Amino acid sequence: MKGRKLLMIPGPIEFEPEVLQAMSIPTPSHVAPNFIACFGHCLEMMRKVWLCPDGQPFIVAGSGTLAMDLAGANLIEPGDQALVVSSGYFGQRFAHLLRRYGAEGDILEAAPGELVPLEQVEAALAAKNYKLMTFTHVDTSTGVRTDAQALGALGQQYNTLTILDGVCSVAGERIHQQEWGIDVVLTASQKAISVPPGLALLVVSPRAMQAWQQRRSPVGNYYADWHNWLPIMQAYEDRKPAYFGTPAVNLIMALEVSLKQILAEGMEARFKRHAHIAHAFREAMQALAIMMLPAEKAAAANTLTAAFYPEGVDGNQFRAAVSQAGVIIAGGLLADLKSQYFRVGHMGPVNQNDLLATVGAIEAALHHCGYPYDTSAGSKAAKAALLADF
Ligand SMILES: *Cc1c(COP(=O)(O)O)cnc(C)c1O
Repeated sequence: MKGRKLLMIPGPIEFEPEVLQAMSIPTPSHVAPNFIACFGHCLEMMRKVWLCPDGQPFIVAGSGTLAMDLAGANLIEPGDQALVVSSGYFGQRFAHLLRRYGAEGDILEAAPGELVPLEQVEAALAAKNYKLMTFTHVDTSTGVRTDAQALGALGQQYNTLTILDGVCSVAGERIHQQEWGIDVVLTASQKAISVPPGLALLVVSPRAMQAWQQRRSPVGNYYADWHNWLPIMQAYEDRKPAYFGTPAVNLIMALEVSLKQILAEGMEARFKRHAHIAHAFREAMQALAIMMLPAEKAAAANTLTAAFYPEGVDGNQFRAAVSQAGVIIAGGLLADLKSQYFRVGHMGPVNQNDLLATVGAIEAALHHCGYPYDTSAGSKAAKAALLADF
């Protein structure tokens, strides 16, 4: 395809042809035996991808924000205390969402590109009895990754439920939900899960299911209420027909294909591939003297990179030139810094060729924008990093 452009934004991403093919199969009934088997199989595979053998998976039609809503609506009752650990745009969204269900509590907000220090989170947990704590694994607005394992451990230590917004991390960044003691890990189909947009996906721990069962008030959202969805998930896993709301049949067939591909690669290999590709991309940016948002290298995400436009380079002109060179990248998302930085997604089926094409397009755009430095240094650095053992 000569006119093809590579979609390198933090979701939706490039999808595998086999996944897209499943989207075009004539739609079966949502209670056809083959579809029941497919749905049940997806639920079983989610436990393996999430590394949460005892968790309860949910698949509901909607975007990642619905996955956040499913967690918030079911676990918050009016007056509950919640702690939001925010490292950008999506942390703030979680705070708004929880407040809508009557939560009270606090938000710990990191400066752009930084993390809330663990000591600060621990001090907050020690000072007040929070029912739950949310944190964004990778905040897609900043490219910063929080220490999910440490926050999961704090949630266990202080008997606080933990909700991890993994929309930009599940199946890309390392997560051992059960071992790390995280109660809800939620995501959406269009990011590292590698299926077109439209599915909210989450896995819930027995501890959180128990907290939900002990609610004293009805769930404040009809569509999101687990009372409606849990029997459906259980029926599909038992390979029995059930109905509450019509499932997104073709998307779920595509999800089965993608989850199979993810497990065939293996979680360990997948985490490592993402880390290697991300490392190579950052090496390229550094060689081009482009500054990245994450203040610390160790906190830079493996699923996307957020970087500042170099001085003197106009953002709109730069992104248009990258597109002209065949690659679509994203602009900024944080309101205050929006015009100063860009974001590149590198998750899901992304391979070395995609990465080199992206670095090449960025170099071409820098050249086009009159960048006064060597604009081939990025490709060289990326290649060296990809060839090196990792
Ligand atoms: C994309 C994203 C969301 C929102 O997902 P939608 O599918 O756009 O509703 C939430 N949190 C994070 C971390 C994201 O990257």
